[in-house]
Amino acid sequence: MTTRLGFKGNKQALPRKVCAACGREMVWRKAWAKNWDDVKFCSDACRQRRAATKEAHRA
Ligand SMILES: [Zn+2]
Repeated sequence: MTTRLGFKGNKQALPRKVCAACGREMVWRKAWAKNWDDVKFCSDACRQRRAATKEAHRA
């Protein structure tokens, strides 16, 4: 049987990775094209949350 052409197939081709802070899966974005390898968080909020956890000791 052949795959059905019912839904947008181009989403499947995009790379994905899991956010290091919240664990949600994030899909490749054009904005990340340059630094996809360095992307570890799905958003600035997660990035800051992770950083804040690290610095929480000081407070
Ligand atoms: Zn996240």
